[in-house]
Amino acid sequence: MRHRRLGHAGLQLSELSLGSWLTFGKQITDDTAEALMKLAYDHGVNFFDNAEIYARGESERVMGRILRKMEWPRDTWTVSSKVFFGAGGKLPTQVGLHRKHVVEACHDALRRLQVEYLDLFFCHRPDPATPIGETVWTMHQLIMQGKVLYWGTSEWSAAEIKEAHAFAQAHHLIGPTMEQPQYNLFHRAKVEEEFAALYDTVGLGTTIWSPLASGILSGKHTLEGDASSRLRMAGLEWLKERELNQARLKKVEELKGIAQELGLSLPVFAIAWCLKNPRVSTVMLGASKVAQLEENLKAVDAQDLLTPEVMARVEQAVAGEKLSTWS
Ligand code: NDP
Repeated sequence: MRHRRLGHAGLQLSELSLGSWLTFGKQITDDTAEALMKLAYDHGVNFFDNAEIYARGESERVMGRILRKMEWPRDTWTVSSKVFFGAGGKLPTQVGLHRKHVVEACHDALRRLQVEYLDLFFCHRPDPATPIGETVWTMHQLIMQGKVLYWGTSEWSAAEIKEAHAFAQAHHLIGPTMEQPQYNLFHRAKVEEEFAALYDTVGLGTTIWSPLASGILSGKHTLEGDASSRLRMAGLEWLKERELNQARLKKVEELKGIAQELGLSLPVFAIAWCLKNPRVSTVMLGASKVAQLEENLKAVDAQDLLTPEVMARVEQAVAGEKLSTWS
């Protein structure tokens, strides 16, 4: 495993990390979750991503039990939570980025994950109903209290991140260290263009999500979606609707050809492509099966095979997708 600094912060995360969205506490058994975390840790993964909303708190409970059972030294791994959507309740006091919910979400995550502090704590989306300064103050205070080490954002705009930094600087507070955006061969605009001015100024780090565009870049899907996959899960029709289409599947076939020439599977190739971007601090993997994670972890070594010539061919293959964004 190799490591990268989280932007300008001193913390170094493993290039590949493991997330739990849709899988822990939902799609997979707790035994599979444990096997995934063990495999990841044994391969040098030092960051596990979570959020209050994942399986309405259950994902954090599952992860917390595994962390407790494994007894890995606390100084060998990092764990995150995210606040905004709530853990199920939808009352105004139970969601958002106001002081009350951010503090309560932090306490709840600490309890569910069975840890004394969160290494990373993200604002899962911007909250137009709360002044950014209130959130910055709250995060700063949680850091001062030792409950959070680094705070960040997820799917915020560059303007919102800049505003948070300007407020933090004006009041001598700690601003957001990292952003968690989607980044993959089909979603590039935020990381490559919108945030470009933030990397060298505020030193933004990035923990990127859905490197396989929810599995589409594994190459296993038809237009209906692979039967045992998240794209066929009840309640996720919107995801299939939004991400899966004929034009993308055609590009996937082209990319598969390039990967095969290098002797790589498409998922390994697509994850390695994300790692080629030095602005990416860590690529967060998702997996519903141990075999998937075993395969995807090969991306660390595979990145060296993606020469400038290969990268240029990829540009041609995904032409037209460059400006796509999530929100
Ligand atoms: P991916 O885009 O890599 O999708 C992972 C899914 O793709 C797996 O669960 C599996 O789903 C399928 N898959 C993975 N590897 C393979 C393989 N080798 N062969 C075939 N299928 C494969 O990542 P995620 O969307 O899971 O995102 C990663 C993490 O990022 C999340 O767990 C979460 O922690 C974070 N995240 C953050 C968000 C945010 O708003 N901040 C939003 C979304 C995710 P299946 O078997 O069901 O097909």
